[in-house]
Amino acid sequence: ALKCGIVGLPNVGKSTLFNCLSNAKAQSANYPFCTIEPNVGTISVPDPRLEKLESLVNPERVVPTTMEIVDIAGLVKGASKGEGLGNQFLANIRETDAIIHVLRCFEDDNIVHVDGSVDPIRDKEVIDFELQLKDLETIEKKLNSLARTAKSGDKEAKRIYALAERIKEHLESGQSARSLELDESELPHVQELQLITIKPVMYLCNVDESSVKDGNKHVEAVKEAVKDEDAQVLIIGAQIEADIAELETYEEREMFMDELGLTEPGVNRLIRSAYKLLNLDTYFTAGEKEVRAWTVLNGSTAPQAAGVIHTDFEKGFIRAEVMKYEDFVKYGSEAACKEAGKFGVEGKEYIVQDGDIMHFRFNV
Ligand code: GDP
Repeated sequence: ALKCGIVGLPNVGKSTLFNCLSNAKAQSANYPFCTIEPNVGTISVPDPRLEKLESLVNPERVVPTTMEIVDIAGLVKGASKGEGLGNQFLANIRETDAIIHVLRCFEDDNIVHVDGSVDPIRDKEVIDFELQLKDLETIEKKLNSLARTAKSGDKEAKRIYALAERIKEHLESGQSARSLELDESELPHVQELQLITIKPVMYLCNVDESSVKDGNKHVEAVKEAVKDEDAQVLIIGAQIEADIAELETYEEREMFMDELGLTEPGVNRLIRSAYKLLNLDTYFTAGEKEVRAWTVLNGSTAPQAAGVIHTDFEKGFIRAEVMKYEDFVKYGSEAACKEAGKFGVEGKEYIVQDGDIMHFRFNV
């Protein structure tokens, strides 16, 4: 499964957020959050289309798709050089596919800030700096061996060496690898380096209850600071989300959210944004037994999508029968879709689209 890592300085609200993501009450009853390790959890992805499909198909059960979230603790000033929990965070962060960077944008004299005051821009730079240092280490190690092959005179080797030098300079100037402009032919070489700062990032401003709707001056500062990064900035009140999740009934939660001016829990927005950040699409299977959402990487082929259900489906793939979600809702059934000419039979090359309702034919 694809993973999102939550990073940030201590006391910015990471665990609070992780815990409310993990609260089963806010989640689907069919697929409650489950804790794999203390800091890793699987969460279901809220998708209103599932309810619509349920009402049309009347299945025995409905299963949303899932995503993994990892709470990465221990990132402090000097972590890359072994301070605090030191390098332990590294292994965790390398395994993630995208990063949620939590920034403290709430004032609360009772909650100590590690650096004495609320300043999300400074905080962000502390974290970025540690991660950039780690990437620099990686690059420097790699440069030694690249230098040897480049000396052999091979053109391609020289090009890769020059590329590594460019990344190094970029990191040394205090920038993350993700902001380096690369052409398509360079991308695979860069991916091979497994840099941390190349992973897609989303900034999550953790605010007070009074600022969940419109933000505050700290949020504005964050937006300004990252405007060239092509990264999403999301406002969330982690504490308030935790309070929402504590409420027993749906009605109570609705009322509380109304008072705050929210139309849905912030965690739902967060999960959907993270899903986008990971470049994921959803397709559905819809049968009488089960209506279910499945996750594929954007651009996946039909056999790859089949493989998400079972590897045998991919190996023995013959064809896929595909209806669009919109058509299914419009015509109301498979038979009606067929009649309307909205039922496709697709082969191995078919690229799955978000919202496809699929049925696979395969050999065993
Ligand atoms: P972590 O170290 O980043 O995991 O931070 P925690 O989630 O443990 O939060 C640190 C402290 O800040 C806890 O006492 C939380 O209750 C508190 N906290 C977290 N989010 C908020 C918030 O939005 N507002 C306020 N006032 N306190 C918060």
